[in-house]
Amino acid sequence: MPIVVFVGTGCATELILFEEDRRQESIARENMMSNAGELRAIIESELNATIHLASGLVSFIKSKNGEYKINEIEPWLLDLQASEPSIRNITLAPGNRIQTVVPRQGNESALGLYYPDNPQQWPAIRKIIQSEHPALAGPFELRQGGLGLAYRVPVFLADESYWGMISTVLNAKQVFALAEQRAQQLKIDFAIIDLESLSKSQAIYGKEDLLVNSTKQITSKLKLNISGRNIELLASTSHLSSDFIYTQSQRLAGWLIALLLGFLIAKTLQSYRRQTRAYFALNESQQRFLRAFNTAPQGMALVDVDGNWISVNPMLCNILGYEEYELLQKPITDLSSQLAAPKLHQQWIAQGKNSLQFELSLRHRDGRAVSCLLSLALIEYEKLEKTYWIFQVIDISRRVTAESQLLASAEYTQTILNKVAEGIVSTSLNGAIRSINPAAMALWKLPEAAYLQTNFFNLLCGENNPVLLADIEHFIQSPQIMDAVQEIERNSFYTRESTITDFHGNQLHLEFSISSTQQKEGPELIIVLRDITERKHLEIMQSEFVSIVSHELRTPLTSIIGSLKLIEGGIFGNLPESLARMIHIALQNGQQLALIINDILDMDKLVGGKMEFNTQNFAINQLIAESIDNNQSFAHEYQVQFKFMPLTQDSMVNADPLRVGQIMSNLLSNAAKFSHPNSKVEINILKELRHVKVLVKDVGEGIPEQYQDRLFKKFSQVDGSSTRKKGGTGLGLSICRQMVERMQGEIGFESTEGVGSTFYFTLPIAGTTTDLVENSSMSDNKSDNK
Ligand code: ADP
Repeated sequence: MPIVVFVGTGCATELILFEEDRRQESIARENMMSNAGELRAIIESELNATIHLASGLVSFIKSKNGEYKINEIEPWLLDLQASEPSIRNITLAPGNRIQTVVPRQGNESALGLYYPDNPQQWPAIRKIIQSEHPALAGPFELRQGGLGLAYRVPVFLADESYWGMISTVLNAKQVFALAEQRAQQLKIDFAIIDLESLSKSQAIYGKEDLLVNSTKQITSKLKLNISGRNIELLASTSHLSSDFIYTQSQRLAGWLIALLLGFLIAKTLQSYRRQTRAYFALNESQQRFLRAFNTAPQGMALVDVDGNWISVNPMLCNILGYEEYELLQKPITDLSSQLAAPKLHQQWIAQGKNSLQFELSLRHRDGRAVSCLLSLALIEYEKLEKTYWIFQVIDISRRVTAESQLLASAEYTQTILNKVAEGIVSTSLNGAIRSINPAAMALWKLPEAAYLQTNFFNLLCGENNPVLLADIEHFIQSPQIMDAVQEIERNSFYTRESTITDFHGNQLHLEFSISSTQQKEGPELIIVLRDITERKHLEIMQSEFVSIVSHELRTPLTSIIGSLKLIEGGIFGNLPESLARMIHIALQNGQQLALIINDILDMDKLVGGKMEFNTQNFAINQLIAESIDNNQSFAHEYQVQFKFMPLTQDSMVNADPLRVGQIMSNLLSNAAKFSHPNSKVEINILKELRHVKVLVKDVGEGIPEQYQDRLFKKFSQVDGSSTRKKGGTGLGLSICRQMVERMQGEIGFESTEGVGSTFYFTLPIAGTTTDLVENSSMSDNKSDNK
């Protein structure tokens, strides 16, 4: 647009100038015509006056028939010349020879001049004579100096004979002086051109350069009515250059105006565009702000610096329970005195003129306090030169309630921890105590500060260090701890017992369980402690009681059984049949009782850690073969056949042969008892990487699934009539398991009801065992389902 305006205005300037030029030109042309006409009149009158003079003189000569007396005409001619200053001289040349020159003074040299002798003038003079008409000649250089014009009149007498020539020599400069003066006044230049001259570019008088046609100049040509001469007046404006400069300045001004206009329009457009853009941007940002303001998920308000509401959003109304118009009418200090404008301003200054953030209870419409988080910022709205507070209000009452609930629940938990009888300690994975409850502190009775400086694992293991400590550390490295650390739910506890000595030197028995959890500070162990000193005493007493009772029973029972065997053997001869049957039953029951007592004693020994294990290396094939032989009586009794398949290449194992014999005896007796008559019991040995596996397989009743998971528990029997019939204590497998595990092996079975069972146990191959832990009082809670 600025370019269009620039070009348009420029063109308009050019057009106006063009029109103006034309108008000026036509006026100038008109003026020129009239001025040239005026000049022509002046020049014609100046030249023609001379002609009139010459005509008078010719008439006089004619009247005298050519015979004149010089003194007759001289005063007259002198007078004439004096009245016409442009007349330089008047010559009379009868027979073409100059006889009279007026004035004589200064023109003496002309006297006697014979025209035909003058090659310069003679052709023109001859032409005048031939034409018989007067003519204006010149210009030519005068002998007397200056430029002259000569008006020559050929004089013919009454008989039409040629008399001579009368010439009036005019000072050209003076002839045209009046015209020159007027031309200057009229500001025109002029030239007089001889149309018959061969060289048309030569002027008789005036500026020759006018002949060169200039488009910038207005010229006018007028024919001069001069006798005997075809001449023309050429007039031209002499002030055209100033017109031209004037036009050029107008053009320059026009273009400058065009440029200025274009520039102004460009500037205006630019500022308009900037304003429009700013307006749109502002409008858009206002719209955005308004949208955000109205839909914000938190309360928002605009408040002026004097603390008056300007605008509130729906969420703020919702938080405070007001309708918008109600809230806008309410003084802001009704919500909280803290929102008074001077206070806010003070705080703002105190905060280094940064935005404010604080928690504040605002009064709800129904009077209750609403805990809110307020963010306040002071914004300057430059356009309006105003400053506002912008409030952001977040309802944090739920968080505050939850926090207080959490606090209450933490206090509650702490109360429980303080009151609970069990000691509860939390530690890091390396045993640094994080928390310890009073019950735990009461166990060691150390000063409170001492707990924080000690490694709790050392305290915990007490007299069982370093074996128990190594075990705990092993547990901490185990996957179940790692699972808990990685927050994988796994409810497993590591339970052990230990013996500690308290601050006063008293010995205490502890049972503790360790579980792990993930806390903010990192993985944490929770250790629950129970003082089992009392229980331990009771157990010892109980165990002692059991062993005393068993021993006390066993001794008389052995002699009873012995006596009964003797009687049955016929020491008293043949017994009556009824008595013999009674003796047999008594013997059977006595043996059953002995079996029970032996089992109870074994179990007692195992539980009390009093059973001795004499581990040694021995060949497995041989020992199993011997134990099969030793138990042939069971095969007999239950009409089954023991079939042994030894290792093709015997293997040495590390175990207690006596205990292995005991285990074999139990498994073989069970297999025989629960086999169908005339079936086979297969005894296999398999060699594995680090163990040999002994399997006893029967084809018999099998074990119902519902009993399988508790078969290794004490006094566990399948509740079936055949079991009851076949007797047993239900302790055998439990004892077997304890013994196998003490020898670093495993025991288990596979069974299908009605098909049969395979019981197996493993023993370590000699050279692969770690040292056996003897007489340890540890017990663990490993699954009992083997
Ligand atoms: P018991 O002295 O009663 O045999 P055990 O602990 O040796 O005690 O066996 C426990 C119970 O397991 C038995 O009473 C029996 O019910 C079951 N049982 C053990 N071995 C077998 C087997 N080979 N076949 C079927 N049931 C068996």
